[in-house]
Amino acid sequence: MKTFYITFLLLLFSRHCTAHNTDYTVQVDHINKSLQVKSCFQHAPKYLYSTSNSAWKLIENIKWQDKPTEQYYGKIYLSEGEKGCISYSINTSLVNKRLNNTRINQQHPHDSILKISDWLWKSSDFDRASQSKITFLHKAGINVSTPWSLINRTTDKTEYSMMYTPDSWVGHIGFGEFEIIDLNISNSQIHLAIINGNNVFNKSSIIDWITQMTNAVANIGNGFPLNELQVMVLLLKGNNGAVPWGQVNRSGGSGVFFVVNPNSSHKELIADWTAAHEFSHLLLPYTPDDRWLSEGFASYHQNISRARTGLLNEKSTWEKLLAGFERGQKAADKHNAPALKYAKGRNRMQMYWGGAVIALKADVALQQKTNGHFTLSRALDKLNDCCLDTAQEWTARETFARLDKITNTRIFSQLYNQEVKYKSYPRYQQLLKELGIKQNYYGRIYLDDTAEKAHIRKRIING
Ligand SMILES: [Zn+2]
Repeated sequence: MKTFYITFLLLLFSRHCTAHNTDYTVQVDHINKSLQVKSCFQHAPKYLYSTSNSAWKLIENIKWQDKPTEQYYGKIYLSEGEKGCISYSINTSLVNKRLNNTRINQQHPHDSILKISDWLWKSSDFDRASQSKITFLHKAGINVSTPWSLINRTTDKTEYSMMYTPDSWVGHIGFGEFEIIDLNISNSQIHLAIINGNNVFNKSSIIDWITQMTNAVANIGNGFPLNELQVMVLLLKGNNGAVPWGQVNRSGGSGVFFVVNPNSSHKELIADWTAAHEFSHLLLPYTPDDRWLSEGFASYHQNISRARTGLLNEKSTWEKLLAGFERGQKAADKHNAPALKYAKGRNRMQMYWGGAVIALKADVALQQKTNGHFTLSRALDKLNDCCLDTAQEWTARETFARLDKITNTRIFSQLYNQEVKYKSYPRYQQLLKELGIKQNYYGRIYLDDTAEKAHIRKRIING
């Protein structure tokens, strides 16, 4: 008991001494699309810094101790150790054109979307282990969407706890005249911001679309892979397709950003693969240097997850996968990276679908080796216990080593060594035949239940 108290006091003491967390208060001006940021210190850090190349263009009116000061090459120097406050404002009219063009501004006169690194200047002495609090003050009817962990939201104040993530990670916030709907998907909090602007839209259709797609991915493992998730849906007319854009962000926590055509029907939204793809990315830790793994596994699961919840039937699931595998093979035959491991950028199809073949191969081999005890879904679900909510970048090799450990096999590292390291594209034709996925004379798919591994094929679809 005594040791417990001493340890407890030591912990308290050490936290007090080393934690340099920076709390922020942000006044939101949605009409002028600007932010007024303030941060106070008991002991000021040497400087605040920004990692973005455009942050210096957006920052204005910088004051330390109420006196004007400047930024120099992405740093604002303070009187180190002094007690005091820094304040500055952010002029979002200078934000990069992708998030600030005429079309967006016409449809969203009072909404803004910003990259976090463009406006949040970090303290030079921050402690990775400590969490900072950020409080947004806004008018009633105005909301703020961020990837941070929500503490509380009232009509005029939204508070978050900010977790450390590496400076190079990207994240977005949105603020303006929009609603946030909190969805509970298998005990995970999905904070859905529907940034509609002046577009007429069908709210229940968008809510149902996000609910169905997050549920589909929750069905892969034993629940949705993360406890909390930011989802921003920017409604924007003038693009083709129901969901012209989707991306996963990792800075500060996980966030998914979609651009959605407000005119798309519920049927068109549900038929679109983008959301299932983006949410599937969250089944794996962040592997920025091995995009074949994240894109490949997401491409596989965008189909498997929809099959599991009945959004796709078995035949169309395999049709979509086979069509993808073939697209990847064709691309790999033309402008290929010498090995799948190096596929990126212009080797898009090779990377997406080559990685998806690896996912299928891992799934089949795992089920065969463990007599169905382990499936790829079950192995990924176990990653949840150790590896998803971390502020760490992973390599494919590390992720595969962990999956081997979880499944007590060598299947993942063998696949990596045999198929990813040296070959430009994995072979899949024989495997599909064994699973009973066959093509007739005209190239149409039919399923053969008498095939050697037909039971594995069925388990992949049924979970
Ligand atoms: Zn992707």
